[in-house]
Amino acid sequence: MKRYLRIQVDHSRCVGSALCLATAPGYFELDDQHLSRPTTSVVPVSENVGAAAELCPMEAITLTELEDERDSGEHEDTRGTRRPPTPAAVPPRQAFTGPTYRR
Ligand code: SF4
Repeated sequence: MKRYLRIQVDHSRCVGSALCLATAPGYFELDDQHLSRPTTSVVPVSENVGAAAELCPMEAITLTELEDERDSGEHEDTRGTRRPPTPAAVPPRQAFTGPTYRR
């Protein structure tokens, strides 16, 4: 069974370095205040978002492993558009093995 993560960015910590955009292209974008936000709220575990969370200098990115596979279904992205949790068309550069999950 494929596992999924919910991505959240704490704007009280984010400094807009854009390191997450470079580490996980397609999963983050800068808003009009130059702060990062996820382009989609749910992604498969093995994507580069894990590396982005580990490399964020402000520890602003929180990844929450979803316990219920129903959570991995269609969801609303950060712009209010409903779509399935399909990752961006960018191949992962490395498998995520870091310990940044919260339950
Ligand atoms: S790497 Fe961290 S501090 Fe930099 S833009 Fe992304 S969330 Fe913000």
